Amino acid sequence: MITDDELARRAKEFMDANRSIADDQFAFRGAQYDAGLGMVHFPEGRGGLGGSRGQQAVVDAILRDNGVTYDDLRINPIGIGMGAPTVLMYGSEELKDKHLRRIFTGEDIWCQLFSEPTHGSDVAGIPSRAVRDGDEWVVNGQKVWTTLAHVSNFGMLLTRTNPDVPKHKGLSYFVLDMHAPGVEVRPLFQMTGEAEFNEVFLTDVRIDDSLRLGEEGEGWRVAITTLMNERVALAGGPSPRGSGPIAELVRVWRERRDSMSPTEYAVWRDRVAGLWVDAEIVRLTNFRAKQAAVGGSPGPEGSVGKLASAELSKRINEAIVELLGAEGMLHEPGYPMTRSSESMGTRTGRFLRSRANTIEGGTSEIMRNILGERVLGLPGDVRVDTDVPWSEIPK
Ligand SMILES: Cc1cc2nc3c(=O)[nH]c(=O)nc-3n(C[C@H](O)[C@H](O)[C@H](O)COP(=O)(O)OP(=O)(O)OC[C@H]3O[C@@H](n4cnc5c(N)ncnc54)[C@H](O)[C@@H]3O)c2cc1C
Repeated sequence: MITDDELARRAKEFMDANRSIADDQFAFRGAQYDAGLGMVHFPEGRGGLGGSRGQQAVVDAILRDNGVTYDDLRINPIGIGMGAPTVLMYGSEELKDKHLRRIFTGEDIWCQLFSEPTHGSDVAGIPSRAVRDGDEWVVNGQKVWTTLAHVSNFGMLLTRTNPDVPKHKGLSYFVLDMHAPGVEVRPLFQMTGEAEFNEVFLTDVRIDDSLRLGEEGEGWRVAITTLMNERVALAGGPSPRGSGPIAELVRVWRERRDSMSPTEYAVWRDRVAGLWVDAEIVRLTNFRAKQAAVGGSPGPEGSVGKLASAELSKRINEAIVELLGAEGMLHEPGYPMTRSSESMGTRTGRFLRSRANTIEGGTSEIMRNILGERVLGLPGDVRVDTDVPWSEIPK
């Protein structure tokens, strides 16, 4: 595997050669992909150098030191975090050629079409249907909570192709052109004031069979790859000590501590210090998991990281709002009903959004089930419908 020193040398050389196009996102990131420095844990020729996930931090630090601050999570979180690894693992060479580079540059934003109104945690039970018609599939159904669907060119679609086998066995997975006839995207407004996610209605949408990822009926296996990568992405990237939500808590604590009574001061100092320690533990645990992970599909450690990060984010944001007192109940200026992420720039906005951290990408209860079953080896959740043909499950 490539060493950190060699990676750093290549990143510096790349930076020197491409400084003049640094402001052009598509051109710069395209060149970064071609140099294997975009997703270093991907294979050579596909944006990477066969390194570990953690080694991306070596490249990113050098780019940052040179004033290049493109952020995967802002540019194309679902495409880079989940679409690219899924296409890499299950896509044909044509699909890899067509999509991977454009996902990384941000030319094509991607979304994930898994959840449906009746099925979120139990996504294997979704009722949307694809029926074969020659070389094409005709899809009907409704998706929900589809983050970024309103700006996406492509979506990862999980749908049922065979209702007469058990639920996990009758699913197939497709790359969906979000501008295809029959795809209708409607915004859903959240309590943060934004509409970053949507309902997506699929009416007689035709998808060519060449756009299938994985075998027919093997969609669940492909979906697991997407979900495992999603959890790693949601657990967060390598971050400096004391940064992110915990930095904000420390800032608010410093603003408020002088006006506290001695008792209040002692109680809050204890709470802030406890949260700081927890944040550091989560940061180091995620960091260690990423250092260890090489290419391929991540294991349950991503779910553990996602659980810990989401619950911590909620506790820290709650502490911030409590520290703010009555002010924490006010909507700060810059809080319009938007379709962007403006509320994330405010303390109350981040507090409201942190509730979603424990739901998106699988709820904390589901993460605990995975942790219990796949890491600790505890008895499994009660499952009464896994061997029954989907069409016979009471709806
Ligand atoms: C901000 C945000 C963005 C999202 N983006 C997307 C997206 O881009 N694409 C997409 O497909 N989906 C997306 N989702 C949907 C998300 O994946 C689902 O909301 C989530 O999986 C939960 O499903 P549900 O909402 O149907 O809740 P349900 O599954 O109905 O769960 C309701 C409650 O029951 C609990 N529960 C359910 N099953 C069990 C069990 N077996 N054991 C213990 N407790 C259980 C849950 O933890 C939860 O508390 C997003 C959600 C959010 C909040």
